[in-house]
Amino acid sequence: MLTPVSSTKKIKNRGSTSAEKNEIEECGVCKKLVGEKDQGLECEICKKWWHSGCVDIQDSEYEMLARHCKGTIHWYCPLCNGKTLQMMKLIQELNEKNTKNELELQTINNDIQAKMQTISTVLDDIQSDMAKMRVDIDSGLAQK
Ligand SMILES: [Zn+2]
Ligand SMILES: [Zn+2]
Repeated sequence: MLTPVSSTKKIKNRGSTSAEKNEIEECGVCKKLVGEKDQGLECEICKKWWHSGCVDIQDSEYEMLARHCKGTIHWYCPLCNGKTLQMMKLIQELNEKNTKNELELQTINNDIQAKMQTISTVLDDIQSDMAKMRVDIDSGLAQK
């Protein structure tokens, strides 16, 4: 029995078999190919390839990256790094705003509670006034 091979499945294995055509990867900085002999780094986010030299990675740093993460290198290119930093800043700002909002909400809540207290006191007054008025009206009617 034959199992149909999905054409969308693409196994990327750099330089495992000689018959396999290597995908052409252009360096995001110099636009030159990142070949087998080059010290290339794949960005984890945008999946672009970069020469280690083009992104200011020292040989020792590159070796460390390559040694530490077998298969996948957890590295972000300068572009994505910038974006990540921007995002982190945004998240931090949002968090700060949230804390501020929470504090503001707390103040507003306290304010509302104080006002509600006043309103209920005023309502009590009005109710007792109404009760008095009703008694007055009743006695007035009874007098007639
Ligand atoms: Zn390059
Ligand atoms: Zn990237």
